Amino acid sequence: MYQKTCPYCNGKSYSASVQGEWRCPYCLADLSGVIPYPPVNDEESKNAAVNKPLDTRSKIVNI
Ligand SMILES: [Zn+2]
Repeated sequence: MYQKTCPYCNGKSYSASVQGEWRCPYCLADLSGVIPYPPVNDEESKNAAVNKPLDTRSKIVNI
């Protein structure tokens, strides 16, 4: 599934394919030129938001 955010109304729309016409379901704007991106997994985004100390990694690498 791909996601696009409408630049006109900020509405989020989803589609399984990026091919063909993509119109905003809210304001019917043509979103074909908007770059789609796969929805981010909630778990991954949480992990990415956490600043893990680099020391742990460097220790593992040094061993
Ligand atoms: Zn829209």
